[in-house]
Amino acid sequence: MLILDMVRKHRPVSRAEIAKLIRMSPTSVGRIVNDLIEIGLVKETDQFSSGVGRKATMLDIDVQQILSVGVEVDRSVIQVGLVDLDGRVVAEQHHVIERTAGQPGIIAEKIAGMIIGLADTQGIAASKFIGVGIGIPGIMDTITGNVVFSAQMGWTNEPFAKMVEAIINLPVVLDNDLKVKALGESSIDAMSNKEITALISIGSGVGSALVMDGKIYRGANNIAGEIGHSTIDPNGKLCECGKRGCLQTYITDLAMLQEANQIKPVSSVNELFALMRAGEAWAHNIIDRACTYIAVTINNVVCTYNPDTIILTGDFIENHPEVFETVRSKSKAFIWEPFIGTFELIRSKHGEKSVMVGAAKLVLQQRLDRGLRHK
Ligand SMILES: [Zn+2]
Repeated sequence: MLILDMVRKHRPVSRAEIAKLIRMSPTSVGRIVNDLIEIGLVKETDQFSSGVGRKATMLDIDVQQILSVGVEVDRSVIQVGLVDLDGRVVAEQHHVIERTAGQPGIIAEKIAGMIIGLADTQGIAASKFIGVGIGIPGIMDTITGNVVFSAQMGWTNEPFAKMVEAIINLPVVLDNDLKVKALGESSIDAMSNKEITALISIGSGVGSALVMDGKIYRGANNIAGEIGHSTIDPNGKLCECGKRGCLQTYITDLAMLQEANQIKPVSSVNELFALMRAGEAWAHNIIDRACTYIAVTINNVVCTYNPDTIILTGDFIENHPEVFETVRSKSKAFIWEPFIGTFELIRSKHGEKSVMVGAAKLVLQQRLDRGLRHK
């Protein structure tokens, strides 16, 4: 993946230059490059390096010709995108899921139909795609491609990757939506020294994900990062999981709305923001307290993982621009001193496309890891 990334960024580039860039032995680089050529991802060109010394064959890549399919599925919408090697979504389609059509078989068929439809409109044979990556909220088994449990989708032990694979006849991988989102937002770059990206998402739920050296950190059961159920107060409010005082009883949409409704009827977080802007002090306090707990969460993630980048995302952040700045200024008071200045706090680069981009990257990564050839 790293070598592919070097060819992509520095094309055209020689094997020797790559070896120098990533400090790997020329023999190893040569072997991996030969694999990449065999798979059809990298090609040799007629150009030669112009510097002094021995002339070298240059390597190039046609980023637009190498497409992966990235899919995001959640309770209400399916998004399918064709993603090139630069992480650009070249074509995409969205489909709103009807309330009654959330069964895995129906969703699998819809996804396959959308991929074929996009391939048709782009004039590309669907068989040309490297594979399909899918991001779904919940606990995923990345080895079997099973959805172990998704509260959002209402699915338990569904062999979802295999269902899609059976229809579309392409390799299909799936993972938790936040994990692929973090992968989509991270960049592997040997020169930037950016190696550990932590993503924190706040919205209808709270979650996090970590990408180290370009790889998703999964933990033993692929549930690392479920910070929503980390305990803040053992005597706190009852959480949906049955425990008390979980982080998500403080900062999810539902938590804020429950609190607001003790004062007056409020039906959405947008409405709560409108009340705050209209000068309602109690609405301001609820939002402000959520921002405080987000700042606390950032400190906890920083203390646990020492990341160089933290991406703050999720509907609560994306839909209300003032939240990011409030959290940023609050976090100054909550970050333990040795960590001050050790990380960059940023917003999502790809916005609502980031799960698609990350899922497409995941399938490319897994196909390279397994050394798969064309089917
Ligand atoms: Zn909980």
